[in-house]
Amino acid sequence: MNILILGSGGREHAIAWAVAQNPKCDRLIVAPGNAGIAQLCECASLDILDGDAVAEFAGENAIDLTIVGPEAPLAAGVADRLRAAGFTVLGPSAEAARLEASKAFTKEICDAAHAPTAAWARFTEHAPARAYLAERGAPIVIKADGLAAGKGVTVAMDVAEAEAALDDIFAGAFGSPEVVIEEYMPGEEASYFFLVDGTDILPIGTAQDHKRAHDGDTGPNTGGMGAYSPAPVLTDEIARRARDEIIRPTMEEMARRGTPFSGILYAGLMIDSGAPRLVEYNVRLGDPEAQVLMMRLGGQALDLFQACAEGRLNDVAPTWADDHALTVVLAAEGYPGPYTKGSEIRGLDALPEDSHRMTFHAGTEARDGRIVATGGRVLAVTARGASLKEARDGAYALADAIDWPEGFHRTDIGWRAL
Ligand code: ATP
Repeated sequence: MNILILGSGGREHAIAWAVAQNPKCDRLIVAPGNAGIAQLCECASLDILDGDAVAEFAGENAIDLTIVGPEAPLAAGVADRLRAAGFTVLGPSAEAARLEASKAFTKEICDAAHAPTAAWARFTEHAPARAYLAERGAPIVIKADGLAAGKGVTVAMDVAEAEAALDDIFAGAFGSPEVVIEEYMPGEEASYFFLVDGTDILPIGTAQDHKRAHDGDTGPNTGGMGAYSPAPVLTDEIARRARDEIIRPTMEEMARRGTPFSGILYAGLMIDSGAPRLVEYNVRLGDPEAQVLMMRLGGQALDLFQACAEGRLNDVAPTWADDHALTVVLAAEGYPGPYTKGSEIRGLDALPEDSHRMTFHAGTEARDGRIVATGGRVLAVTARGASLKEARDGAYALADAIDWPEGFHRTDIGWRAL
């Protein structure tokens, strides 16, 4: 098979690493890729938001399966364009990708499917939004609708903070003002991942991430500083309830509306008193959750992805080892604020790479035979073990072997489960 993966982050490096292990994979191209991916397979420069360009590239390279990594090409309709041209693709239509692109849309689907989630209301004008806030009080959650890369959400512990968030949104900080105001849900968060082909759902793992930049869950929010899988808080019973009460009914509602979901579904759940509620849907793997999921799935990920894209999920089931994986993100000093680019990372060549240890690249470039940091999140050192502690020790041993004074990482990834 010839396989094309769209994206350039640690997530796409992890997907490529898993897919490349499957003997069915004859040729693997990642567009645009990064320096780490280039050590594993071909990288191609391609505008992945341009559906016509991607379809043309797929034709020229006789691509049998395209795997879309990030959400932006999905929201831009790249999967639709590929399917219309007869290609097999893992990733939802733009219409179904609204589950991530619009918070109000997801809330409507949940209500229609009677899926448990926070009570909510949507506003396009400031005065009624302020009045609703005054009536509800704090704690409360204010969300700019649309894709805001995690920056459009304020979990407000008092009314003044919530009012300030509304002021920002209605001042146009996130484009045309549309806001969802949600009931605050207490509890512990976990992520549950699925392949979905219409209405059939196949769980492909659970994980917990670490959003804050610094140890002890302090500092600013980031794209994610580390993750581990499985998430012990998602017990068999809570996972079953999530499937039966949230995932399946919402996927049935999508199909009922004539916009069935096909691709990877990422459910962000809040678990309180043994019951799951939906926080959000994403329509792709998380980053860095992909790193731990792919490490645990390995080469079989390709069989599962292919079955999903071909609409025959019923034929497959993942084989799980009773093990754990943990990933630690190495970021440029200053991230998620301003950071410098171009510092050299040393020691990567000597790192072990096997089915239990892998250093995934996110923001790197090769320059004159050296690897330099070009992004905020730069590397994800990932390890697998019989216990979570073993996985953690493996990942931190990799981090310790990397010589990069301009970088930093959290030292407490996994604390909640350990
Ligand atoms: P991201 O994709 O980066 O997680 P997002 O912009 O899609 O962010 P959400 O996932 O909806 O936004 O919210 C971001 C975070 O805010 C959640 O992970 C959760 O910690 C918190 N949060 C969101 N909604 C609620 C809620 N109703 N109650 C409590 N916390 C919430």
